[in-house]
Amino acid sequence: MDSFKIIDPLGIQRVVQPKGVLPQQAEILSTNLPIAEDELLVEVESLNVDSASFHQISESAGGDVIKIQNIILELVEKRGKLHNPVTGSGGMFIGTVAQIGPKFPVQDKPVKVGDRIASLVSLSLTPLNIKKIKQIHQTTDRVDIEGYAVLFASGIFSKLPDDLPETVALAVLDVAGAPAQTQRLVKAGNVVVVIGGGGKSGILSLYEAKKTPGAKTIAVDYDKESIHRLSELSFVDEVIHADARNAVALMDKIWDLTKGKMADVVINVANIPDTEMATILSCRVGGIAYFFSMTTSFQKAALGAEGMGIDVDLRIGNGYCPSHAEIALNILRESPEINRIFMETYS
Ligand code: NAP
Repeated sequence: MDSFKIIDPLGIQRVVQPKGVLPQQAEILSTNLPIAEDELLVEVESLNVDSASFHQISESAGGDVIKIQNIILELVEKRGKLHNPVTGSGGMFIGTVAQIGPKFPVQDKPVKVGDRIASLVSLSLTPLNIKKIKQIHQTTDRVDIEGYAVLFASGIFSKLPDDLPETVALAVLDVAGAPAQTQRLVKAGNVVVVIGGGGKSGILSLYEAKKTPGAKTIAVDYDKESIHRLSELSFVDEVIHADARNAVALMDKIWDLTKGKMADVVINVANIPDTEMATILSCRVGGIAYFFSMTTSFQKAALGAEGMGIDVDLRIGNGYCPSHAEIALNILRESPEINRIFMETYS
């Protein structure tokens, strides 16, 4: 297709293959210009690659930065989007608004050319063209590029805040759904376990959980440095050093800490596969197992729980919930401890 004239809020006309599906399900998207009348064109500077995706790409490249670069370039060239076929996940971007289609819904989504924005929709459904990769930041999953992306009329985004470095905002906004959903899920007096608690979404979720009156927070992580950092945080009550792929060992540790009561809510924000059963076995009967992790296997969680006759409320981590961007960014304004960690790591 040479041009996009019609109104198409879901971006269906950009699907090249297979026809008739939505952009997230598509194998290939078109990144052709000019944009449609209801689209937004953004000059992109940085991508925050989803942690599970970056981890998988990095592993398959043996950690070699040139190979990582080539994998990302080939993937985006082939699919017209940064949609990792192994993890199914994407990430998000920051950039400058370059063009606004005359029918883009600016009354609902105020924006002007030159605004600095972060996308709040996944790169797994966002048309993306990379002209050049400038730098890959391996410890923070960030990729600086020259290129452009297209947002559909249904797409959501956030203007970048003035009071935080943009790369910090990028890191926070990528996982904004996790602390916002934690706020909804945790009730007074709950015991909350966060698996992968030392990472971006883990720290934000632990903080948000602890704000609930009487909540007790337990962080689980694999990395020794993360464990050390977690043990110094005022809003983390207990820290467990464990490999969440070993479900029984983690269950035993949670049993000991909770005197057999187990957790009311378990939030899984690990970035590796095979942590479903540790999440489920750490939960009390009738508790909530919340899978924010993109490495979650529906089959492993559902059939694993069924196979053991465990009555736990299994929930999929929706990356969106109302006000999630504000909730997540406000944590950095409220908590000097988290502000310091994110500034040191991501700015
Ligand atoms: P992150 O900063 O990389 O944190 C992941 C944490 O998991 C790290 O602290 C990591 O430790 C830990 N971990 C790794 N292996 C572990 C193991 N065997 N046992 C216990 N902990 C382990 O990731 P993030 O950016 O917060 O993202 C967390 C998850 O959310 C990822 O799966 C990501 O794909 C997903 N995500 C979901 C959505 C959504 O919409 N649902 C949106 C964004 C991200 P190390 O330091 O050792 O690696």
